[in-house]
Amino acid sequence: SSVFAALAQAPEDPILGVTVAYNKDPSPVKVNLGVGAYRTEEGKPLVLNVVRRAEQILLNNPSRVKEYLPITGLAEFNKLSAKLIFGADSPAIHENRVATVQCLSGTGSLRVGGEFLARHYHERTIYIPQPTWGNHPKVFTLSGLTVKSYRYYDPATRGLDFKGLLEDLSSAPSGSIILLHACAHNPTGVDPTIDEWEQIRKLMRSKSLLPFFDSAYQGFASGSLDKDTQSVRMFVADGGELLMAQSYAKNMGLYGERVGALSIVCGSADVAVRVESQLKLVIRPMYSNPPLHGASIVATILRNSEMFNEWTLELKAMADRIISMRQQLFDALKSRGTPGDWSHIIKQIGMFTFTGLNSEQVAFMRQEYHIYMTSDGRISMAGLSARTVPHLADAIHAAVT
Ligand code: PMP
Repeated sequence: SSVFAALAQAPEDPILGVTVAYNKDPSPVKVNLGVGAYRTEEGKPLVLNVVRRAEQILLNNPSRVKEYLPITGLAEFNKLSAKLIFGADSPAIHENRVATVQCLSGTGSLRVGGEFLARHYHERTIYIPQPTWGNHPKVFTLSGLTVKSYRYYDPATRGLDFKGLLEDLSSAPSGSIILLHACAHNPTGVDPTIDEWEQIRKLMRSKSLLPFFDSAYQGFASGSLDKDTQSVRMFVADGGELLMAQSYAKNMGLYGERVGALSIVCGSADVAVRVESQLKLVIRPMYSNPPLHGASIVATILRNSEMFNEWTLELKAMADRIISMRQQLFDALKSRGTPGDWSHIIKQIGMFTFTGLNSEQVAFMRQEYHIYMTSDGRISMAGLSARTVPHLADAIHAAVT
């Protein structure tokens, strides 16, 4: 007997559970398109060469010790991370208006930011896009915020519901927090254009809506680190305040190292100092201080211009392979004469294609073709290769005909 005898079995995580099911499938043709992690053409996980080099440098440095980091993490990592996302010439950085703390990847940065807002911000409601990454509502609810959604995706056009988005932000109470995907919106792959971002920015600033950016894919979407952060920089350039959750999981392939940062751009240097002091009070009882290794890798790469350049090339190669998979899948469906308009496959941006397949079609493809994806029809383009595209195209064709 157990004091936990009455405990119900919890359901698998809707995203990570896909991999659990995939791993149990003995079929030799199985394909996992559920997980949001990069794979090579050969279907293997990739450790960037520049990351291996950074690890060698760290390993060969005998003065390195395993002491605790400060509560806020590695100071140099924090500085370099803010520069990477906001730009080296960012006035907010030069005016010391940015408080940055190292957190446990993107998820941890969102959680620390959410808890800070729940304690210290006057408005407790956060609006998240409909749909969004499945963890967002849970992270923010457990942070102590009230979660509501704004219209984002229009299934009819498989594009942005821009009118609905503007209407919902217009009717949100002044001061509300708005979660924005900096680029490569997950799961839809649909981003606003620069012109649309500008309209969103104007509306949000006019209503004092507080932007909370989630940047999980900087450089991974277009292949350019600067281009993928244009939306964010527009909101910094206007001098207003915002929160930024930054992840190195995808763009440096550091998934399991859990390395990321939360930056809060403040109105003044004086406020930034107090914000940082309060962030420490959020972090200390949660996990005391963040892990050392991943942040050391990132700092080693970002501080050295030659290694930084190598990183940008490797990052672009990953982005380009994903973009090429989009084209190959689109071409394969076209050559099969698969009914429907599949142009969204090449229009969408980032790691995922929101196929438009429904949950029955997804179940059919798993059953008959051993292809695994989330039930909303999202496929990870990073998990595809020239070898698996024909199999996927056959499965999609069979599912829709
Ligand atoms: N936000 C979004 C939109 C994501 O897609 C992800 C990763 N799937 C994350 C945040 C967090 O990822 P991590 O905690 O691994 O950095």
